[in-house]
Amino acid sequence: MYLFVLKIILLLTLNFNNIYQISTKCIEEYIVNNQNYKFNLDQIYDYREDKFYINIHYVKLNNRQIASSSTLPLITIKKEKHNSHSKVIYLTFDDGPSKLTLDILKVLDEHKVKATFFVVGNKVKQYPEITKEIREKGHILALHSYSHDYKKIYSDYESFINEMEYTQNLIYDVTKYKSYIIRFPGGSYKRLNIEFYNLLKEKNYRIYDWNISCGDGIGKNKDVETIYKNATDYGTHSRIILLMHCRQSDNATLCALPKIIEFYKKEGFKFETLDKCEEDYIFPFK
Ligand SMILES: [Zn+2]
Repeated sequence: MYLFVLKIILLLTLNFNNIYQISTKCIEEYIVNNQNYKFNLDQIYDYREDKFYINIHYVKLNNRQIASSSTLPLITIKKEKHNSHSKVIYLTFDDGPSKLTLDILKVLDEHKVKATFFVVGNKVKQYPEITKEIREKGHILALHSYSHDYKKIYSDYESFINEMEYTQNLIYDVTKYKSYIIRFPGGSYKRLNIEFYNLLKEKNYRIYDWNISCGDGIGKNKDVETIYKNATDYGTHSRIILLMHCRQSDNATLCALPKIIEFYKKEGFKFETLDKCEEDYIFPFK
């Protein structure tokens, strides 16, 4: 409860124009000054420097819109009628498939959880059988460009879209599954803007960055303990998109994975795939 009030206060110190984050909405009801209010509360998330961003719309239960967030009497929020939206984690693996992906699949199978694989087109071409295996095991295939070459992908919008479409077709040829879920190589930060976003939406793409990274994508000294520590340091998140990799070199991630899954199971998280996530999750635009 106090955390909620704190977040609202943080909200009021932020400029609404800087909030671009959209994520799954949940409806919550509160009693404010002895009146019922229904909140349509977007997921709170933090992004760099531990700042909280929140996007909130609320209506009185009689559907009369309240004009501005500052009209909310903060301190008098007394009671949460129900505040128990479930904790969800989306495990995501980028840059595969590789032979190591098969070992990742085994671990996921053993723990009976499903994940989302952002695959690279040229590797789909190289490993069609592994791509197929990902799908057959019930995981979700998603698009992560064809070349993973930043210079090519980000030279213009068309190149980016062409690479995604080409990869989409490659996956379809192998699995008969058409994926519209995409992730920008390196993340969308400083690469996505409203014009580009609208183009991607015309193509029906859903875009996902992440809010926790296990850190296996950065630096050479990847050890299992550090990866585990990064991956499980989830702060206040109740919906986690965890970034991991499954290249041939990601053996440390493979070793940390069972412990990471066990940790989140103990913490009460439900494991989902990103096709079940209703809205984009993107970093703020540049
Ligand atoms: Zn990548």
